Amino acid sequence: MGFSQYLKFYMQKPLDLKGKKAVVADRNRPATNLGFNLLPQSSHGIVVDRRFVVTSGSALLLAPSPLVLASGAASTMRLHDHGPYTRLVLELSKGVEFSIFQLGEPYRIVVDLPELDWAIVGDAATESTGLVKTVRYGLFQPGNARIVIDLAHPSGVKNAFVLPPTGNTPFRFVLDMEPVSRESFMANVGQRHRKGALDMANVKPDAERTNNQVSMSRTDGVPGTDRKALVVLDPGHGGVDPGAIGVSGIYEKVITLAAARQLKALLENTGRYDVILTRDRDISLAHRERREIARRVQADVFMSIHADSIGNKDVRGLSVYTLSEKASDKEAAALAERENNADLIIGMDLSRESDDVRHILVDLAQRESMNLATKLATKLIIQLQRDVKLLRNTHRFAGFAVLKSPDIPSVLIEMGYLSNREDERALRRPQYRKKLMAAVARGLDDHIGVAQSARTL
Ligand SMILES: [Zn+2]
Repeated sequence: MGFSQYLKFYMQKPLDLKGKKAVVADRNRPATNLGFNLLPQSSHGIVVDRRFVVTSGSALLLAPSPLVLASGAASTMRLHDHGPYTRLVLELSKGVEFSIFQLGEPYRIVVDLPELDWAIVGDAATESTGLVKTVRYGLFQPGNARIVIDLAHPSGVKNAFVLPPTGNTPFRFVLDMEPVSRESFMANVGQRHRKGALDMANVKPDAERTNNQVSMSRTDGVPGTDRKALVVLDPGHGGVDPGAIGVSGIYEKVITLAAARQLKALLENTGRYDVILTRDRDISLAHRERREIARRVQADVFMSIHADSIGNKDVRGLSVYTLSEKASDKEAAALAERENNADLIIGMDLSRESDDVRHILVDLAQRESMNLATKLATKLIIQLQRDVKLLRNTHRFAGFAVLKSPDIPSVLIEMGYLSNREDERALRRPQYRKKLMAAVARGLDDHIGVAQSARTL
């Protein structure tokens, strides 16, 4: 079993402070072979007063560590191409625990850390360097920050450790990656899952993963009465995944959250809606989890909010999408692929997703939901076209992962193109978003009104 399969490391210092004992699980690998001497700092005489727990393979300690450190801040991220290996360095305000795993197709290395404030200046790590294509980072879930490294080639972890501060240099998390064969990379991906070794993050049930609002399930009334309609709004992207990046540099994840909050306020002010956001902060969320939130509370409507970006800077306008097995056109198919990619971006394992999707698509309930979603999309467009520039063929169909709840009518709104200067400027303005969201609210009113009266017949 390879060293790169799973690494877990504790710094001796914080452990000692907490009265815990450091353990070296792999005694055949003394710390000096784990890369300290590769660090430029070591030649300047830093004190190596730390010890590793490097657990690999069967010697693994998989239980969540009892060690809890208050959140720190990450200030700088650097990538260096050292030829035979590529090094990532993250400067931290304090020592942290971490765990690492890898995901295939596309090749990724994922580092889970405690929750951190990301105060990274500049984009030093966003350029392709050595074995690394791109690096993204952000809050993955409460208490859990994540770095997702997209690899240009299959690569394993050569070394991973945290260095204590020296002089003006703060704590540093250091990760060295070296090329491995595709076979060995993929073998490690599989082994981790058989072991259920995601001790920090992914194994928690969905209910624990999402924000508190989710527990607020509906209690009032029964269908057909005058109970409030329950709407789940889903601001696209978040956390590790910025979504599209606008011409001025603004992230889609920021725009979508702002718009969703505005729509929530508008709907709640009518007194006719309960509204739940799938995320109300800058956090990553897989499509499956977004859908699950709507299903758990039995929402009347699920609405995912996005803003697109494409190569042609002239294209602008809003569009509304509903689920279909067959995309209405190539652009819609390409958009669905871009949006579905978000799960890859935040480091989710999609190996089981396709079965699930196939199963859902044959469900008859899906068809009913799709019909309702189509009606909702029509109502939304009728209202939106009064105030907002629409894309041609405004209502489109494609296989968006986030819309695949079999029993909840689900639509996805692309509010415009962040790649277009006018759309982007408009979407950055709260007044414009409010106008847009007010039209969405009127469309929802029309839809819910009709749906409710139909139920009482
Ligand atoms: Zn999006």
